Amino acid sequence: MDDPVPIMLIATTDATSRRILGDELRRRYGADYEVVVCDGHAHGRAVLEGLRRWNRQVALILGCYGPADRGGLDFLRRAYGFHPAAKRGVVVTWGDFASAPTVFRAVAQGYAELVIIRPERLRDEEFHGAITDALDDWHLAQGVGFEAVRLIGEVGDERTHTLRDSLSRNHIPAVFHPVGSETAERTLEGLDLRDPVLPVMVLEFTAPPIVLENPTDLEIAEAMGVTRPPPADKIFDVVVVGAGPSGLATAVYASSEGLSTMVVEGEAVGGQAGTSSLIRNYPGFSRGVSGAHLAYRSFHQAWTLGTDFLFLRKVEGLRVDGALYAVSISDGSKVHCRTVVVATGVDYRRLGIPQLEDLVGRGVFYGATVSEAPSMAGKHVCVVGGGNSAGQAVLHLARYAKKVTLLVRGPTLAASMSEYLISQLEATRNVAIRFGTAIVGARDQDGFLAAVKVAASGAGDAVPGEEIEAGGLFVLIGSMPRTSWLPETVERDPAGFLRTGGRDVSFGGSAGADRIPLALETSMPGIFAIGDVRAGSIKRVATAVGDGATVVSMLHAYLAEHPLPAASAAPGGAAAREELPR
Ligand SMILES: Cc1cc2nc3c(=O)[nH]c(=O)nc-3n(C[C@H](O)[C@H](O)[C@H](O)COP(=O)(O)OP(=O)(O)OC[C@H]3O[C@@H](n4cnc5c(N)ncnc54)[C@H](O)[C@@H]3O)c2cc1C
Repeated sequence: MDDPVPIMLIATTDATSRRILGDELRRRYGADYEVVVCDGHAHGRAVLEGLRRWNRQVALILGCYGPADRGGLDFLRRAYGFHPAAKRGVVVTWGDFASAPTVFRAVAQGYAELVIIRPERLRDEEFHGAITDALDDWHLAQGVGFEAVRLIGEVGDERTHTLRDSLSRNHIPAVFHPVGSETAERTLEGLDLRDPVLPVMVLEFTAPPIVLENPTDLEIAEAMGVTRPPPADKIFDVVVVGAGPSGLATAVYASSEGLSTMVVEGEAVGGQAGTSSLIRNYPGFSRGVSGAHLAYRSFHQAWTLGTDFLFLRKVEGLRVDGALYAVSISDGSKVHCRTVVVATGVDYRRLGIPQLEDLVGRGVFYGATVSEAPSMAGKHVCVVGGGNSAGQAVLHLARYAKKVTLLVRGPTLAASMSEYLISQLEATRNVAIRFGTAIVGARDQDGFLAAVKVAASGAGDAVPGEEIEAGGLFVLIGSMPRTSWLPETVERDPAGFLRTGGRDVSFGGSAGADRIPLALETSMPGIFAIGDVRAGSIKRVATAVGDGATVVSMLHAYLAEHPLPAASAAPGGAAAREELPR
């Protein structure tokens, strides 16, 4: 029998809103969701409680706020406890501007995730856009739906975890089946795999399905077949290293302005932003946008504009090759280009505690991996760090975990975290903050993290030998720029970020010494740095995108000043100038 459909629940004391919302949702979504309408908050809570007991999935909970319903925000806050993974929206009526400040404050404190204006006419597509975006985010977080890739592995195994994360961040519809589950056993038996090397990946969308045992990134990229290395004789105007927000923005603008563009991405589209569950401060997205969606749409935009992509392959080196640059790729190939844009962002700093490093993927995670959050349901989770990333991770995890404790070495968050995040943390009832507390070790049970050992740092109150129960530990303690593959001659600041621009760098003795570097150009002519990897950059999605757009005008300037000599061709190929699609 098919699984029961997910629920959309509306609970309000406002009879008009109840009728309008019930009718609208049933008409548009009735085939795929069960729409439940409750005539008050107590009724709504009782139904949510029942749905939890029956293990029914609740995708969306709507409450109202306005003159006819002053209890809707409180209802939504309490609804979280019953179904933490459900999206919660507060519906307001157009023109009720007096209610707006209360509603916005409640949303900032996490009572609801989205504000929706009640539809007053049929076919209100703005209203439905908000609903479908919320449902789309819910589906992405659940990892349910069309199964293009079946992944079978051990729960908690590091490689399996990395693959799940990478598939979800690359927007590849994949379903994970733990070894021992009925589907996993049936699949392995059907494939005649008696003693497979786990994890096993089955590409269901190929005919016949391709089966990979413990595949490398390269094997996966090749099996997927979506991005193949370019012909050896192709010369790109620009190679962009990294498909985070900055690299994707460069790809969109460069391709749309006629530059032949190749993006090389080692892990997943979206970079750090792709791991963020809700970006609330990106202009134009008043309801916020999940990093995965923003990244996927930018990728799609660049792709349709003509950008070539190489996924799951890293850039490992760069050297001058005549009038060109040769970029070495981890699959052993080389890509030739006239300019390079370094958009490689940063890597998370490690804790460097061997006990914890041994548990990575089995309870310990670096970064706020969105895909892991649902598996923290009912657990006590710790987050280490004092920056915005740590704050956002805590709020996201608090939707699923029983309790989240933020461990902060220093005495305050004021200098390192945005004010709005601090107040959201303080307002979230299952979040605790321990200041002056450092992690010093871990205790495991059956190879999985069970508790973290903490000690007082400064005026902290940790007692000697104190342990905090932890079903998960998320480490967000700062970052290191990813530049190890670049020649040492490319100037960095003391923390390793790439310096750019005439005031900060000079070309020294290299070619091009007769001009000053362009604003986003490094100390190597024709090599540009953008986004988080650039010294002095503001570490935000919008500024990374701004860098990505800005650098394209400099690419044009550089390319115009450095035309290809008529006989230029990438070594090993016959291509010459006319091959360039300019
Ligand atoms: C959890 C989280 C939440 C955040 N929330 C917000 C928010 O709400 N608002 C906001 O404005 N900012 C937010 N940020 C910050 C924002 O995501 C970053 O500032 C932004 O992603 C930087 O973009 P980037 O393109 O410079 O680098 P990145 O996003 O780091 O992307 C770099 C990419 O380069 C790839 N790469 C690295 N080295 C190589 C190589 N050698 N070869 C090939 N590829 C390589 C990486 O795999 C990565 O995909 C958040 C960050 C995190 C971690």
